[in-house]
Amino acid sequence: MKLYNSPIDKFEYNNNFFYVKRDDLLSPEFSGNKARKLAYYLENNCVNNINEIISYGGYQSNLMYSLSCLAKIKQYKFTYYTKKLSETTKLLVEGNLFESIKNNMQLVEIENDFHKFCENLELTLKPHQLLIKQGGAQIEAEYGIIQLAKEIDTWAQENNYNPAIFLPSGTGVSALYLQKNLPKYKVYTTNCVGSVEYLKQQFINLEPELSNYPVILPNKFKFAQPHIELFNIWQNICKCSSINFDLIYDPVGWKAVIDNLTQIKQPIIYIHCGGLLGNNTMLQRYKYLKLI
Ligand SMILES: *Cc1c(COP(=O)(O)O)cnc(C)c1O
Repeated sequence: MKLYNSPIDKFEYNNNFFYVKRDDLLSPEFSGNKARKLAYYLENNCVNNINEIISYGGYQSNLMYSLSCLAKIKQYKFTYYTKKLSETTKLLVEGNLFESIKNNMQLVEIENDFHKFCENLELTLKPHQLLIKQGGAQIEAEYGIIQLAKEIDTWAQENNYNPAIFLPSGTGVSALYLQKNLPKYKVYTTNCVGSVEYLKQQFINLEPELSNYPVILPNKFKFAQPHIELFNIWQNICKCSSINFDLIYDPVGWKAVIDNLTQIKQPIIYIHCGGLLGNNTMLQRYKYLKLI
């Protein structure tokens, strides 16, 4: 299983050169930053007496799928809480939800007060249960991100670069720990989920003492909402790079990069965070909405 040392590719787009850290080429079960975020649990047997993973969040979460693979490898039970699903969602035969259920994930739909329910999970946790917060937003994620930081630093030193680093944020955990462990370089990100203020708060909650947080390039698009402008950017970047990017985070990420090229110092290294398993279901939504 390949969990680190991904290659770095280069491509040209409108007379700009970009480097891409190909974490999408890591092991498919844990592709992208989910491999980094879960490396701690994969490589350490320090979680004693655990036989069940508990987590919660969106029903097409990339982390949910990676947790279902982790549970399978470790032979743990995996229980995942999400909001009530629509009937059409239940019929999907591909994507993260379908694949996670195939991995024996126990899905529990919560009809009322989802957020309150999730807050309470921590209080009712049993000793044999391991709780992974939504999106894996917890300190154990730093373990694998330190390895990613080392790989980037080695590459930069070998090439004599002082790169700007970019990756799109959900919880912001990956961007935060990358900046913390690469103080020499500037990490840029954008808020794909929630507002700029939400993302800032996420940084502060995890690392209240850090003096340099990642720079947030603001995004106004709603999370996981198809939009033709985003689709066009995604298509152009995929074409120019011959790399398949994800259709939820990366269109927003690349828009933030392209709109802010004058602000961001070059060269830019874009971290490909994986997530390709969801592309087909997202393409179907674009088609269903007659946007493409
Ligand atoms: C999870 C994910 C992100 C966001 O990672 P965070 O650490 O939650 O900010 C970005 N891109 C892809 C493809 C992801 O799956």
